[in-house]
Amino acid sequence: MIFCGELALDGRVKPIAGCLSMAIQSRDSGYGDLTLPAQNAREAAVLNAVSVRPVNHLSEVVEYLNGRRDLPAFKFDLDSIWDAGATDELDLEDVKGQEHAKRGLEVAAAGNHNVLLVGPPGSGKTMLAQRVSGILPPLSFEEAIETSKIFSVAGILNSDPLIVRRQFRSPHHTISDAGLVGGGHIPKPGEVSLAHNGVLFLDECPEFRRNVLDLLRQPLEDGQVTIAGATIALTYPARFMLIGAMNPCSCGYSGDPVRPCTCPPRSVIKYRGRVSGPILDRIDLHIYVTISAFVLKQ
Ligand SMILES: [Zn+2]
Repeated sequence: MIFCGELALDGRVKPIAGCLSMAIQSRDSGYGDLTLPAQNAREAAVLNAVSVRPVNHLSEVVEYLNGRRDLPAFKFDLDSIWDAGATDELDLEDVKGQEHAKRGLEVAAAGNHNVLLVGPPGSGKTMLAQRVSGILPPLSFEEAIETSKIFSVAGILNSDPLIVRRQFRSPHHTISDAGLVGGGHIPKPGEVSLAHNGVLFLDECPEFRRNVLDLLRQPLEDGQVTIAGATIALTYPARFMLIGAMNPCSCGYSGDPVRPCTCPPRSVIKYRGRVSGPILDRIDLHIYVTISAFVLKQ
């Protein structure tokens, strides 16, 4: 039997992070019985392979071990979560027009390529990117467990015991190193790991600090990221589809068939140079998105 939880001075058992990983470890080590804080029962029970016994107070555990009370195993209906999570996804079909960009994204999704969307403000780059996870294949159970484990360790699994959809993460360009790749005293996963098996969307790519963007090199190369904390270094999975979006220049209209670009030529080159070569080299498809008369279907 395995017991885990945070014990308060008055005997209450408080919730902890990472219970899904603990359930997996229990299963893999041959322990079939896991007693843990009641708030963590749902996330650990998705595995369906160990008996998860939720408790609120240490006295319940004592009475259980003395045979004076029963701690019934927590069960729930996994199918219902799976079905509920599979709906209400944004659909690429809802975008009317932009056939060129949609075709490019389909190719990228089919081949799991990274993509850079280049186009003026208002050309629908974000709207297109948000809909890519909808055309990726559904998550397998193993992938769902992997992604949920990361959220469980990050302590943000919230009310959903299992993440059943591919994630779309779009960190703001002011994000810190630790926010993007992970960090902390005991390193917590960052956005690259929260996007594992899903999409990492970087809007306004050139606005990200260059050293932050360069941190993407290891995950883009290896599909994982190693973060050194104060006492330990941890490796988290980070295999995601990268979608970057940027304006073609500071004013946004370089190469536009209608509106003229007002930037001096040198500043256009400088603007594009803000995204470093090694990152651009890892983005297979560069798609130019123009302001065609796109509309969102009603
Ligand atoms: Zn310009």
